[in-house]
Amino acid sequence: MQKALQFIENLDKSYTGLIEILEFVGYSHEEAVYAADNCNADWNQEAAESARGYMDVKDFSKEELIKQLIDGDGYTKEQAEYGASTIDFSNFEPAPIPQTEAPAVQVEQPAIPNVSSHEYWINTDSGKFHYSDCRTIKNREDPHWETYHGDRADLISQGYDPCGVCDP
Ligand SMILES: [Zn+2]
Repeated sequence: MQKALQFIENLDKSYTGLIEILEFVGYSHEEAVYAADNCNADWNQEAAESARGYMDVKDFSKEELIKQLIDGDGYTKEQAEYGASTIDFSNFEPAPIPQTEAPAVQVEQPAIPNVSSHEYWINTDSGKFHYSDCRTIKNREDPHWETYHGDRADLISQGYDPCGVCDP
């Protein structure tokens, strides 16, 4: 029985794990159960030590670790959860990548060029263009008048000059 007590001191074993290993080294099942029942082991503490041992090997998630302690080592759910609770997972798990929202970049809106579609009247004889209500426009039926809907810059680029009266 001293041997059993040494086992529990040296091994991070669950109750069932201890029984298994005692049986493996030659104790009868009854002896192993008796030893496990009477070794006054703190199974929670064993689970915590097992948990630490696992984390040395692999970065388990908490869920994985609990599952490993239960399925792999035979700890009870409560013991496994206690063992896992002693692990500071923040030291093991990579920090979750913060879901940074793309910073709302305040794109400086380029000043909208003064594109305004107006109706202009072009005197194809003089090369001047006017607002449609320019008082200098007479005889709108004259063939040298063309109406134009669009941007004054386009008219200028086409070689027309703004009227000096209506100042389009
Ligand atoms: Zn004019």
